[in-house]
Amino acid sequence: MSVRVRFAPSPTGPLHIGGVRTALYNYLLAKKMGGTFILRIEDTDQTRYVQGAEDYIIESLNWCGLVPDEGPNKQGEYGPYRQSERKDLYHEYAQKLVNDGNAYYAFDTAEELEAIRNEEAENGNHNFKYDSFTRRKMKNSVSLTGDEVKMLLENGTPYTIRLKIPQDTVISFTDLIRGDVSFDSNELDDKVILKADGMPTYHLANIVDDHLMEISHVIRGEEWLSSTAHHVLMYEFFGWQRPEFAHLPLILKPSGQGKLSKRDGAKFGFPVFPLDWHPENDESFEGFREAGFLPEALLNFLAFLGWNPGDDREILSMDELIDAFSIDKIVKSGAKFDYDKAKWYNQQYLIAMSNDDLARLLNDENLNTSDVPFEKLSRIAGMMKERVYFYTDILRDGQYLYEKPASYDTETLAKKWNPINEPFLVQIIEMVNDDGNADELSHAVKNFIADKGLKMGEILPVLRITMTGTMKGPDLFETMTLLGKDECMARYNYLSTNLI
Ligand code: GLU
Repeated sequence: MSVRVRFAPSPTGPLHIGGVRTALYNYLLAKKMGGTFILRIEDTDQTRYVQGAEDYIIESLNWCGLVPDEGPNKQGEYGPYRQSERKDLYHEYAQKLVNDGNAYYAFDTAEELEAIRNEEAENGNHNFKYDSFTRRKMKNSVSLTGDEVKMLLENGTPYTIRLKIPQDTVISFTDLIRGDVSFDSNELDDKVILKADGMPTYHLANIVDDHLMEISHVIRGEEWLSSTAHHVLMYEFFGWQRPEFAHLPLILKPSGQGKLSKRDGAKFGFPVFPLDWHPENDESFEGFREAGFLPEALLNFLAFLGWNPGDDREILSMDELIDAFSIDKIVKSGAKFDYDKAKWYNQQYLIAMSNDDLARLLNDENLNTSDVPFEKLSRIAGMMKERVYFYTDILRDGQYLYEKPASYDTETLAKKWNPINEPFLVQIIEMVNDDGNADELSHAVKNFIADKGLKMGEILPVLRITMTGTMKGPDLFETMTLLGKDECMARYNYLSTNLI
């Protein structure tokens, strides 16, 4: 059997990071099994449709490198891949369920349903369900006579189609992550499968499409587990073979208490969406991309939110992830979202990047606003990459590597400055060889300090602040070699005339 998996988001807003993980796991399984990764846009709920959301989803997947083999932008043999373009098709299937006695027309208006809900609530039942126990009291093709139904239909009375859940039945299936799962049919409501506007609901469209698109594995978030009971029933009603189901664990807040929500991003100061989202009249959110994440690092991090390769490796390239992936290594329990870990991953990927690639990235992202020459930019990237979590911080934190320090740690300078050392500082700067390397300089300077009987703890901090303004930063001798003798001397002169 060939593996065909789908990522089926609804364009109701920006794609949550949990959605990216779902897409990733689908992608990994498809690539591992030589299968097909499909993007299907589930846009049948017009009331929740958000302009720009579909483009956002596609751009997010592209940025991550999770490029669909079939989808709205990549036609295959099973299209269209946008449910709104498949509208007519669902009708036929809903009708088949009605004809077979597995679904029925329901004519209750929204007002009537509301009235019943209120009436029930007054009698102490706050949980009214349209189900196998209540359907006979309602206005539908089960409770009305054939003639009544015929007339209503002929009059063009609006109707929905509801699934007819059988009573006293146990609905079971085996979930690839959760094992055997059972539902008591008496707990299930008669879900609407076709709405009065002729649009299918998620449940009908989802399983019709999974069937027609020959989906082999449904891999989705845990929140869909309870709907699966309805889906399994529909597969039985249609006499279709159902796909394998795998319901992924939740992504939890950093505290482990509750599901990670879009509000948590602002609350804890980290992104929960892959890309920036700036709708015109609504809340904005920052993306992982704009925060400076490399897509490979983000994916590696996400892969481990609920899965691991079963050994102690943590850094896995896309090819290694594909190779190591299997559904049976996905865990059942929720995975805590640990932003520090995400940052750590990003840093590991920055360190692994070549300095030239990093420099190119800074140029491509227009972060090199001071037009630092490429060769120098590459050296700066190399010196800074272990000291930052984000490439966007390289030029900010390493500002003094390409222009005069923007500020000085004058407090430390005042403590360490000793006028007696002035000539020695000048002599040390004279030792900088623009074409030399940092190790040679380090060696020479340390010998010099020892020979003159000076204190490392007095000389080196002053030199460092002279060059960079701060006590933090990359290796001092590397910094001085990068700056070159003339610039080091200019910085020393500036400091001794202006700050001492
Ligand atoms: N449209 C559903 C969603 O937005 C898809 C759920 C599924 O994969 O079946 O998540």
